[in-house]
Amino acid sequence: MIQTSFDIQFDLCVIGAGPLGIITALEYSALNKGKKVVLVEYGTRDNDATNNLDDSIIITNNINHHPPHECTNKGLGGTSATWGGRCVNFDEVDFYDRAILKGGCTWNINFFEAAKQYYTKAIAYFECGDNVSFNLQNIVPFKTTSIAEHFINGDVTDSIVERWSMPTRFGKRYRNELLDNEDITLLEGFEARNFIKLVDSSTISALTLRNTVDGSIVTISAKTFVISTGTQEATRLLLRNTILFSSLNKIPHALGKYYQGHISGKIASVKFYGNPKLTDFGFLRNADGSYMRRRFQFSTKFLVENNLLNTAIWLDNPLYHDSKHSSGVMSFMYIAMITPILGKKLAPPAIAQSITKGKVEGIGKHLLNILKDFPKSLFVPAVIFYKRYLLKRKLPGIFLFSPENKYALHFHAEQIPIETNNMQLDTDGETLVINYQITDSDIQSVIQLHEKLDNHLRASNCGELEYWYAKDELANAIRQMSKDGIHQSGTTRIANSPEDGVVDTNLRLFGTDNIYICSSSVLPTSSQANPTFFTGVLAVKLANHLS
Ligand SMILES: Cc1cc2nc3c(=O)[nH]c(=O)nc-3n(C[C@H](O)[C@H](O)[C@H](O)COP(=O)(O)OP(=O)(O)OC[C@H]3O[C@@H](n4cnc5c(N)ncnc54)[C@H](O)[C@@H]3O)c2cc1C
Repeated sequence: MIQTSFDIQFDLCVIGAGPLGIITALEYSALNKGKKVVLVEYGTRDNDATNNLDDSIIITNNINHHPPHECTNKGLGGTSATWGGRCVNFDEVDFYDRAILKGGCTWNINFFEAAKQYYTKAIAYFECGDNVSFNLQNIVPFKTTSIAEHFINGDVTDSIVERWSMPTRFGKRYRNELLDNEDITLLEGFEARNFIKLVDSSTISALTLRNTVDGSIVTISAKTFVISTGTQEATRLLLRNTILFSSLNKIPHALGKYYQGHISGKIASVKFYGNPKLTDFGFLRNADGSYMRRRFQFSTKFLVENNLLNTAIWLDNPLYHDSKHSSGVMSFMYIAMITPILGKKLAPPAIAQSITKGKVEGIGKHLLNILKDFPKSLFVPAVIFYKRYLLKRKLPGIFLFSPENKYALHFHAEQIPIETNNMQLDTDGETLVINYQITDSDIQSVIQLHEKLDNHLRASNCGELEYWYAKDELANAIRQMSKDGIHQSGTTRIANSPEDGVVDTNLRLFGTDNIYICSSSVLPTSSQANPTFFTGVLAVKLANHLS
């Protein structure tokens, strides 16, 4: 339902209509028939390429952080307009207070356990398969299989999987459901600005909204507010609205701090010794057609005992831009990706950057690769194009078989929550400054886990790692290659008190009775996991809590 009169008090006002705002609004409405929900979204159906929010963000580290307009999208569905659809679960270890986290683990395993009952609902919203398990040992056809011949599960495991949504573009997928719902009012083109508080209380009565087209201000009142504007905008909204914390007599120390992403890149290949045809290098499919993929992970016991960060390492293709891979298929796809206009259509800028590394080189050698592998170098991309762009459930990525049984390894690691990685308001009270660095300990953990993987594979005669850099160059290589900003978390973290965090375990903002934050900003630790699926579980949990 679209409506422009705001003279009613809504039961629930959800601010921000990305995946988390949409899940919260739909789930709450399903549980509370007749209760009135308003969903407020900054973007409109015809968003410009740039917007005022992203234009007023300063990134102080351009090596390790993407520019603002590559990190989020505006409009119904939010950043799911360009996300990859990877649905990855958090692990037990993410809730364990390891010394390396320097006191940053402000939630505990009870929180994880309590969230599990909402998996089934979240999986349905994300459309990432019928089966709720993220471990192949619980999925019958795959129970006894392994990533490669001779692999043995131990401190290193191969059975935890990532799953994929369609990828579900939440705006397209749920627009009609939202509009057809008599209880939900969708407001597009409105920016949440200032909260209005009842005098001498912790209750917020109303919120002002700025019409993004004509700049006019309207006020909306609601019994409860949920902020789901994404990490950077949730943080900016709170930093601007310090009135919210007046009953605490202070702003929670953690607000805007402990900003995290993931340490990510490639420093080695794995050479398996066994039969190449028995290596699970690509996607597995559930009976329902949804995709899954194995990754190497490390047991909770091993990570806790060795004080290391949670890290996933998966089999990948060699670097596309380096023509030495001599694969005509990869060369064809590299050239397509660096071709102006076409490249932009094939992948969003942050993903394209991670594939091409922003390099345009060796075109002649790539063309030779294509000629050498003809017609396969054109036929395989054509099939991939069909599966990846024209089917409803799209092929989530491209992983090519290696006859030598040798694969690049892609690491994706948890980052230590530190105070100096933060989001702050600039002196104008509007601009958001994002400070983001990678620490030596983040990097050393990645290196040690590669060594562990190497030892583990050698011990069972399964394989070995071949490094791409000399040992003393590894740290610098990781520091130069790792780039995030698309998996933002940590700046409004969950804790038991406002001394340690910004929201409680029900996601209620400390200092208020009726404001909740539903964003990956509430995650105190960043896991190896991409953040959206688990935060989606928290959105379902929150909708149930508010009911
Ligand atoms: C290229 C790319 C690939 C990604 N791939 C993956 C992946 O494979 N798996 C994964 O888990 N994650 C992935 N992510 C991250 C994922 O997209 C985000 O975690 C997810 O979209 C966050 O959902 P959200 O609803 O919290 O925020 P968003 O999706 O950012 O939505 C927030 C919404 O709030 C609106 N808004 C902001 N401020 C205001 C305001 N003041 N008033 C009103 N509305 C406002 C915005 O316009 C936006 O629509 C990817 C991100 C990018 C950029």
